[in-house]
Amino acid sequence: MREAIKYGPAKLLPGEQLHIAASVDTEPFWQAAKEHRLTACQCGNCGHFRMPPTPVCPECSSFERNWPTLPGTGTVFSFAICNRNPANGEPYVYVPVVVDLDGAPGARLISNVTGCNAEDVEIGMKVTIEWTPINDGWVLPNFRKA
Ligand SMILES: [Zn+2]
Repeated sequence: MREAIKYGPAKLLPGEQLHIAASVDTEPFWQAAKEHRLTACQCGNCGHFRMPPTPVCPECSSFERNWPTLPGTGTVFSFAICNRNPANGEPYVYVPVVVDLDGAPGARLISNVTGCNAEDVEIGMKVTIEWTPINDGWVLPNFRKA
């Protein structure tokens, strides 16, 4: 049982603090995000989902990949409540989460939850995606309570 600490609203870190470093393997995910489309890396041979994306399927060694459009919903698998801005140490409440993605069995996305108080986030909570523009034209997927 968690202590009854009141953290207040869960926010995103300020957009100017966030930088996306896309690689050849992650670029399709981030390009889809610019179109507000959630995707995950799926093996084009056996259908196995893997996140983060890697060049080779760990199940069948295929290099074939698909990037299907997912529903944009999921379930909180794990989370942490952070109460300091890592850039300057000032009080700032944000909640990194690991989300089990609907439509992509086995694929989990590390993201953030907003739109509720940090103390109200719990494992098993249903969430839905939201898109937040950040630096350099990138769009960040984050989640709020469904
Ligand atoms: Zn495979």
